[in-house]
Amino acid sequence: MAKLSIRDLPLSGHRIFMRVDFNVPIGDDGGVMDDTRIRETLPTIEYALRHGARLILASHLGRPKGKPNPKMTLKPVAERLRILLDRKLSRSENVGFCTDCIGVQAEEMVGKLEKGQTLLLENLRFHGEEEANQEGFAKGLARLADYYVNDAFGTAHRAHASTVGITRFVQKSAAGLLMEKELEYLGNAMQHPKPPFVAILGGAKVSDKIGVIRNLMQKVNAFIIGGGMAYTFLKAAGQQVGKSLVEEDKLELASQLAEQARSRNVRMLLPVDHVVAAKPEATAKPRTIGEGEPIPADMMALDIGPRTIEIFGEEIARARTILWNGPMGVFELEPFSKGTRKIAQAVADNAGATSIAGGGDTVAAVHQADVADRITHISTGGGASLEFMEGKQLPGVEALNDAR
Ligand code: AMP
Repeated sequence: MAKLSIRDLPLSGHRIFMRVDFNVPIGDDGGVMDDTRIRETLPTIEYALRHGARLILASHLGRPKGKPNPKMTLKPVAERLRILLDRKLSRSENVGFCTDCIGVQAEEMVGKLEKGQTLLLENLRFHGEEEANQEGFAKGLARLADYYVNDAFGTAHRAHASTVGITRFVQKSAAGLLMEKELEYLGNAMQHPKPPFVAILGGAKVSDKIGVIRNLMQKVNAFIIGGGMAYTFLKAAGQQVGKSLVEEDKLELASQLAEQARSRNVRMLLPVDHVVAAKPEATAKPRTIGEGEPIPADMMALDIGPRTIEIFGEEIARARTILWNGPMGVFELEPFSKGTRKIAQAVADNAGATSIAGGGDTVAAVHQADVADRITHISTGGGASLEFMEGKQLPGVEALNDAR
């Protein structure tokens, strides 16, 4: 069921509580180091302001564990937002900042908000009640607002006071424009994928991706599996993997998943050659282990080899829908970054496919390969996009009103 959109709410003159994801990195000098997350939600903020909302913004930042922590204040975010809005709206927007997200001071400041003005509240997680989804706290947040908008896809898989609890105490709850975009792309890929549908999975552990593999087994035509997780599958298939990352307790499961894929005619592509070294170090001297050669006992596979890049690339070129989560190797280190970069380029080169990349490392790899503008959708939510791919309902999405 589609969810109510901010475009369906009467915004003018109303107090709109908007949950955003301003969980940005803060430098030692206390400034915002990367404002991508702020810029991504700007269209929703601008939409609300243009329509005369009295806008209240709320977010978490870091893990302050229920206590105020000056290192995790959202104050520098208010300053950056002021600059970004000035530039975009070409008039001086009034972005106020309240040193608490709840209580008398917040209520007074919201009371003074005029149409087209913004108030950013202090870090929600300075209160333990936020993550506990405590009812009194949710009610206190709701007292600040008439309507609720959630634009924080990245926290939609968490049932917190500001993502779920609050929705019970406001008139209506709707999705912001960024949230809508996430649900549209991920939802379409999961529900109406154009075949061939290829899922590229990588990263360190199989255990993190089991739910995704299980759910996608019924939907995809092919799995491309790289990164550390591939070596549990390869060992389960009887190959010598040396010191490569293997989850011994998942060998049986890996065999079962491979068997399921076979019986469903889902291709499961694993690396056939490997870039190995004694250790994952930037100064390591990597060696390539060719097709059919065993990985030496004292070496670990840290990237996919050239033949694997070709085979994976051919599968990617044929796809019409591509979901990608997880790097193909230890891409943070230059000697082992090529496989992930080549796969990013292959995904970007397939202009006829809908391509979706999610997860912090994958998004970083897409930017590193300089292909972000040729990927159809880059998901802002790591954990949330994984849970979506597992077929789970996201509590922060479920809590929004259904569209009429
Ligand atoms: P994840 O958080 O599960 O997506 O895993 C991402 C991490 O997996 C990155 O930090 C990579 O360095 C790491 N990784 C990728 N390939 C390998 C590999 N072959 N061996 C060990 N770690 C890997």
